[in-house]
Amino acid sequence: MEGIDLDKEKHEILNAYRGLLRAWKRERSSEDTKRIRKAFNLALEAHKDMRRKSGEPYIYHPIAVARIAAEEIGLGTTSIICGLLHDTVEDTDVTLEELEAMFGPKVSQIIDGLTKISVFDGAASMQAENFRKMLLTMSDDVRVILIKIADRLHNMRTLGSMKQEKQWKIASETQFLYSPLAHRLGLYSIKSELEDLSLKYIQPEVYQQISHKLQKTKEVRNRFIRSFSQPIRASLDAAGFKYKIKARTKSIASIWNKIQNKNIPFEEIYDLFAIRIIIDSDFSEEKSDCWKAYSIVTDYYQPNPDRLRDWISLPKANGYESLHTTVMSPTGQWVEVQIRSSRMDDLAEKGFASHYRYKENNKKDHRFDAWLGEIRDLLENPESNALEFIDEFKLNLFSDEIYVFTPKGELKTLPKNATALDFAFDIHTKVGESCIGAKVNNRLVPLSHTLKSGDQIEILTSKKQKPKEDWLNFIVTARARQKIKYALKEEKRQVGIAGKESVIRKFNHNNIHFNSQNVGVLEKFYDVPSATELYYRVAKGMIDLSKLKELNVTGGILTIPKKLHDSVGKQPRKKEAKIPDKKDLLIIGENFNNLDYSLANCCTPIPGDKVFGFVTVSDGIKIHRQNCPNAQQLLSKYAYRVIQARWQNETLTEFTAKIKFVGIDDIGIVKNVTEIVSGDMNINMRAISFESNDGTFFGQIEVLVHDTDHLDSLIQSLEGLKGMHSVERIEGDLNE
Ligand code: MN
Repeated sequence: MEGIDLDKEKHEILNAYRGLLRAWKRERSSEDTKRIRKAFNLALEAHKDMRRKSGEPYIYHPIAVARIAAEEIGLGTTSIICGLLHDTVEDTDVTLEELEAMFGPKVSQIIDGLTKISVFDGAASMQAENFRKMLLTMSDDVRVILIKIADRLHNMRTLGSMKQEKQWKIASETQFLYSPLAHRLGLYSIKSELEDLSLKYIQPEVYQQISHKLQKTKEVRNRFIRSFSQPIRASLDAAGFKYKIKARTKSIASIWNKIQNKNIPFEEIYDLFAIRIIIDSDFSEEKSDCWKAYSIVTDYYQPNPDRLRDWISLPKANGYESLHTTVMSPTGQWVEVQIRSSRMDDLAEKGFASHYRYKENNKKDHRFDAWLGEIRDLLENPESNALEFIDEFKLNLFSDEIYVFTPKGELKTLPKNATALDFAFDIHTKVGESCIGAKVNNRLVPLSHTLKSGDQIEILTSKKQKPKEDWLNFIVTARARQKIKYALKEEKRQVGIAGKESVIRKFNHNNIHFNSQNVGVLEKFYDVPSATELYYRVAKGMIDLSKLKELNVTGGILTIPKKLHDSVGKQPRKKEAKIPDKKDLLIIGENFNNLDYSLANCCTPIPGDKVFGFVTVSDGIKIHRQNCPNAQQLLSKYAYRVIQARWQNETLTEFTAKIKFVGIDDIGIVKNVTEIVSGDMNINMRAISFESNDGTFFGQIEVLVHDTDHLDSLIQSLEGLKGMHSVERIEGDLNE
């Protein structure tokens, strides 16, 4: 190949290989070394013409995977061989039979497992069943999944040379599957690194910000740690302990989680780091040594009794053993101190694999085997399914995508905040258009229900259902939005046919020519943006054609009289003139056609409300009421993402509003309320709930109204009812 010094490259490959052997600190026989060399030679030959996206020879990848398996997970010869060969069967001419002949059945069995689960890599749709298969393979030989994790870790470390779209996909999958799996296997440092790398590609700006802040505060932190540890060191030395004290900084991903979950700024996170005391002690002494160290620490610093965690007497399910306490430093800062033996530390860093090493001299420990046995039982139990498994793994991590399942267990990826309706449209347009509700995990929910990772959704449809205007308020996916808009437009056109006929009849009756010029005059007179809208409103009875007599007709031509002329169509323009910065103003119309925006679910604004637009990270612009409960936070924290918005008053549409009322229980109150809403006011009701308690009733209704005036008149009518005490508009969803 041109421009590449092949001799130099060969030299560097050999160096990488030697690095692998050096990193592997365990004792090994010359037989082991020979077998590893044989695997390296085979991999080198098999991948010789392949290069990675970064341009480097492909062989660097298997070498790195084998090295992670040896150095960071603590695996042995067989795993190193499998790491070196893990991509050969999948990507080259090497067969499983050849591998078996050269390295024996165990190696070929593991590689077979690795090859089977490689469908995970970048496959368009990952199935719950595949995940189950992966776990089944894992329960056959856990090394399959450990090498798979090593493979994923190296791919994440070298993700920079991939296309952005691929980066997102791989990073999301890592966040969803591989970090929880690493966590479950007790591979704490790998888990943290996978989480950090995922965050780095999914939310680069967040990642950079936090890592910058960590860097900036490093010096102060180190000084604090030195002075905090100093008296502890002195006492441990005096007691004759062999030990190490390390400071462990919290991972960027867990800092970010904390910022989000606790809603606090970086500066207020008190446990940015933990002090770790690692004691070199005999297996038989380690428990009492750890408690001695605890006693020394608390001689100097006051412990918080609520935050003592003894995972030495009772290890975590994944094998984690350690003694944690949180103590008060002289500067008034809480500091977490973790105390453990070097065996426990190794176990925490490298997980169960390293645990295996100690097993020979530690007969009592069968937890890992028990855990694998549990997995096997679960998978072989016909009543359990892969979905429950995912639940088991608590895969509901923070991510910009959610993973949900069809009743048959097929996995679908949707954007965060996607609703049951988005899911319906994702299955098929027809399913979406006729969707009336859904069952999420067997519970009945409305169309607008927000889905979570791991949900299993069954869509309920009805032939009578048609897409509704208000669906646009909660739909999240662009494709579904487009389909709904199209259907609504078509619907409007259909309805409008009758309206058009009325207009023609009225024109004939008054000797007005039916032509585009005269229809245009009518549009202006009634202040509507298009003929379609005009016909639609006429058909719906929203326009009173008898007003036509206010207009002049001369020789079949329609004109607006001078006295009316000034007032017609002027109002909106006057309002516009008042808005100072027109460039940044968002005009909210009915059709949602021009811009990618939607109405916020938290406060469900309707025309007439004072509103503002908020630019979300992944979800376009959201319209909030100015008195929305979230407004203050959004405006104060993200002022730069706020844009002015107001309603375009030209078109008529329906919006969801919620009303709460309280009164004296009276027979027929439900009937009276519904009569006013559906009868007198002819308002569409979406949901209603009543509750009666000791002579008092509490009711909530969800209605579709045109604007605040419309809503106000409804509230007034309801207030007039006998026994009614108060009626008010409320925020949020019903029953929540
Ligand atoms: Mn690989």
